Amino acid sequence: MKIDDIKHVAVIGAGDMGHGIAQVCLMTGYTVSMYDIKDEFVEKGKSRIEWSLNKLTEKARISEKDRDTYLKNLTISTNIEEVVKKADLCVETAPENLDLKKKIFGDLDKFAPKHAILASNTSNMSITEIGAATKRPEKVAGLHYFNPPVMMQLIEIIKGEKTSDETINILIDLAKKSTKNPVVSKDHPGFIVNRINAITMLLIHTMLDKKEYKAEEVDAAAMMMGMRMGPYELMDFVGLDVAYHSMNYLAERLDKDYTPTALMKKLVDDGKLGKKTGEGIYKWPETGRPDIDRDAECDFDVMDLMRVQINEAAKVLEEGIAIRGAKDIDTAMKKGKNNPFGPFELAENADLEELTTYMDGLADKYGLEVFRAHKWVRDGSLMDHTKAIEAAPEEASPFEFENVEVTFDEENYIANVMLNSPPLNLLSGDLLSDLSDALDLLWDDKRFRVIIIRGSANCFSAGAQIDPSLMLDAVPFALHEYVKKGQETFKKLRQIPKIVIAGIERYAIGGGLELAMHCDLRIAKESAKVQLSEVGLGIFPSWGGTQMLRRHVGLGRAMDLILSARRIKAEEAEEIGLITKEVDDDEFDEYLYKYAKKLAKGSAPLSVAVVKRLVNETAEGDLDSGYNAESLAAGVVFVSEDSKEGFMARVIEKRDPNFEGK
Ligand code: NAD
Repeated sequence: MKIDDIKHVAVIGAGDMGHGIAQVCLMTGYTVSMYDIKDEFVEKGKSRIEWSLNKLTEKARISEKDRDTYLKNLTISTNIEEVVKKADLCVETAPENLDLKKKIFGDLDKFAPKHAILASNTSNMSITEIGAATKRPEKVAGLHYFNPPVMMQLIEIIKGEKTSDETINILIDLAKKSTKNPVVSKDHPGFIVNRINAITMLLIHTMLDKKEYKAEEVDAAAMMMGMRMGPYELMDFVGLDVAYHSMNYLAERLDKDYTPTALMKKLVDDGKLGKKTGEGIYKWPETGRPDIDRDAECDFDVMDLMRVQINEAAKVLEEGIAIRGAKDIDTAMKKGKNNPFGPFELAENADLEELTTYMDGLADKYGLEVFRAHKWVRDGSLMDHTKAIEAAPEEASPFEFENVEVTFDEENYIANVMLNSPPLNLLSGDLLSDLSDALDLLWDDKRFRVIIIRGSANCFSAGAQIDPSLMLDAVPFALHEYVKKGQETFKKLRQIPKIVIAGIERYAIGGGLELAMHCDLRIAKESAKVQLSEVGLGIFPSWGGTQMLRRHVGLGRAMDLILSARRIKAEEAEEIGLITKEVDDDEFDEYLYKYAKKLAKGSAPLSVAVVKRLVNETAEGDLDSGYNAESLAAGVVFVSEDSKEGFMARVIEKRDPNFEGK
């Protein structure tokens, strides 16, 4: 069996994960049948898919035509035999209960075609045990999506003891086809992501239990670092029962040190499960978030929550859980938990001697050996082992990038480029390289006329991500290269023969604003804020900031904004001409997309290419050279086929033109 043999997917369970996975499969081009035990459950799952597809249509991520096709390709039923009888792949997403899952897999084995792969979305349960409930354990695997499946970029594929390589390879291809990042894990408690994340959970549970810090202080420190929610609020938000059950499972199957703390047990026993019950670690209002004092002082270093993961990642690598090696572990933690760095990326710049002292300190202080420094951390050899156990190289599609996500709406000639380094989309050298490569690929691609650049997690970009060691160790050449890379990438935005629109939400700060200033147009949410913050940090805007800002707002205002490093709201930015239009937050997605669609359909590609060159490149030259350039370009553009079409359509036949870029 090969990936192309998968045409129909059956999803078992239409809850939070089931409906999302069904949607991902529809958007990959499969027909999907979805099952749940009651009509109302499966109908609710379907209406959640409809709601989400409508939202994606409004936000210009998919076209209306595609949305309609996806919905046409979805069927729902409460008859399991009916749902799976034509499936090439079944994905089970029922509640996390081993006996229930075994029973369901028995049914799937009975009713699904003999060639079908049977996968479970379990977060923890043993795939080997689930597979044993069937007569085809070689075709049973874990296919662990993350919540919400449509947004999250990771799929953890779990190989049970009897799962065949063929099954795993097909699921790897399936993940890639759905534009997700696959990682492959051995069937071991917690797999890769939940296992490594559990050590952070254990740390925050224990710190709270021992009253070392207040939840509010740690959460405030985390938010100061740019996280949208601190770890305690997040745990409350997801539900304390989820963390509690997961820790209990790891305590039973992995190490008793994971046994939930007395405080966690009491909260769960008392029914204080967090947001869903109105109280957990925090008291939750009916709507919105708990009242957390964001200025609460705390000497806890939030980075420690990630540093402890280096130690756990060493164990996962040594135990062979990440079957394809260290790179999968970094990918898993970045894409599955939205961590800015993978544990080994962090380890590369970490002081392992200091980490050893810290981990041993935690083990001694809490009496939990699971924190004890791993031997490769202790002897400093960790990074040598990551290289020795290297991941197999993967074939990538040209538009597959780690830090930038490119999606297309060919029907409307629009390419969506998402800066994908949440939560703040800081512009690292890698992200700049990905953006630059994406622009190169789009340059001559006639399918697209407008590029919309946005940031993930509803934030455009809060600026550059300079490796602190480059500055603190004063490495001038490396800094020069980094700055040059930003400038060269941003220059492409002005030169590419397409209309480039920046869709600005939350922040366009520092390098983020410089990126936006190189786009042709800037549409911002009312709540967005922009700033060139560099002077206050002892540096200066060097990705074209000193050059571009005065072109947008004039010399006096540019000096004011750069020298004062003032953060201004979208309203003021619009008034001074720095952004093109400020739009109500609720209307932003719709406005941005309609605007892009209108430009893509209504502007002739040759005219766009020439106008961009003329406006951008002759803006500061003398007027006569400008006139000269205009007349030369007119000699080409005014005799193009599109110019005839424009004239016929708009002047003679009073219709919209169909430009072809000729
Ligand atoms: P959920 O409670 O939202 O959905 C479960 C669905 O399964 C419900 O609609 C329920 O009616 C249905 N169901 C109950 N009995 C069934 C049966 N016999 N056959 C088929 N369906 C049945 O739960 P969820 O959050 O979607 O989690 C589902 C699975 O995914 C669990 O194994 C969970 O561990 C895993 N998972 C959850 C998350 C998450 O963040 N929610 C993330 C990754 C994996």
